[in-house]
Amino acid sequence: MARLEWKKFVGQERVKETLKTAFDNDALGHAYLFSGAPGVGTLPAAVELATGLLCDGAEVRPCYECESCRLVRAHAHPDLNTVFPVELSREHRSGTKLSEAGWAYLAERALDKIRNPYVLDELSGLPQIPVEWIRELNHSVLRGASRGRWCVAILDGIETMNAESANAMLKTLEEPPTNTILILCTARPHAVLPTILSRCQILRFGHIKPECMTAALETMLDRSAEDTAIANAVRCAGGSLGKALALVAQPLDEQLGVARALLQLCAEEDWLRVAEGLEALVGGDLNQGRDYGAAERILTYVMYVVREGVVGSREGGQNYFSEVPAVHATAGTTDPEAARRMLDICQEAIGGVRARGNVMLVLTMFLIAMREVIHEQEQQPR
Ligand SMILES: [Zn+2]
Repeated sequence: MARLEWKKFVGQERVKETLKTAFDNDALGHAYLFSGAPGVGTLPAAVELATGLLCDGAEVRPCYECESCRLVRAHAHPDLNTVFPVELSREHRSGTKLSEAGWAYLAERALDKIRNPYVLDELSGLPQIPVEWIRELNHSVLRGASRGRWCVAILDGIETMNAESANAMLKTLEEPPTNTILILCTARPHAVLPTILSRCQILRFGHIKPECMTAALETMLDRSAEDTAIANAVRCAGGSLGKALALVAQPLDEQLGVARALLQLCAEEDWLRVAEGLEALVGGDLNQGRDYGAAERILTYVMYVVREGVVGSREGGQNYFSEVPAVHATAGTTDPEAARRMLDICQEAIGGVRARGNVMLVLTMFLIAMREVIHEQEQQPR
């Protein structure tokens, strides 16, 4: 009996152990929901588990050398089915159906995701999973395995499914054919239909440890431990390898500049200037509020600045608040409770951005909530 050996899926020891035990004892469930923040490894785990199930290796799977493993990597394995959220434009549709160009685009996206599962999408519009794609997957699952024992389906970002797509998927989920394993991934379990949740074994993915992230980034990017870009990215990424990968590519100072500008607005008294500042930010760096990736990145940096502020002042060192005097006087407090509330406010705003809320509105709510904390801090005796 071949054993599962993780090679590309990083950190998440508990999840690794659970799946390995089930795999090695031939006791895997029919349907899993991998739930975790973007970039913590839900899709990479799904891809590696699927590769292991389809692998022909005699002792250790996946071997990444056999014909099956090669087919998976080329996204040409007949027993691996995948769907991912995509942004469709006009040429991807003909009438209400997917056009030929649409199908070609889906195949291209799927190949990209299978090859680089840790890379996060920089989506600007409203991603969706077209119902045709789910139907295609259903057909193929019903046909059963053609090469080996297992037929595996990976469905990523299932919270973006509309009712039609979800209903189409429920049929397969309710009565999966034997030797079929469905792996669903989501970053927002609360947005997943209860009927879907109740049919899956749920595995929760937490943050990845910094040392694991550093080692993984060094391997992925072929760089050394001295690399400050890697160190900075790991510090800012809050346990998400996907986020760290995106951050490595961004110049830190520029990003922190935007985050500081946003924090400065939190401490600004004149509402007219707040409105102007926000409009400049959303209209410029956030590309008319459509660049959700950038909005999330800026909020991530604000969280970093807040965390650094508390840690920095505790250690008596320089921190980024010192460069924003108005914020420093108030938000640069050592009060961990205030910092925690600010981090919650950031998280909530990130949630709003991820749910594709109006960026201007999300940031306005963010500013109002942050000001409240800052004002409370000001009123406290020192
Ligand atoms: Zn193999």
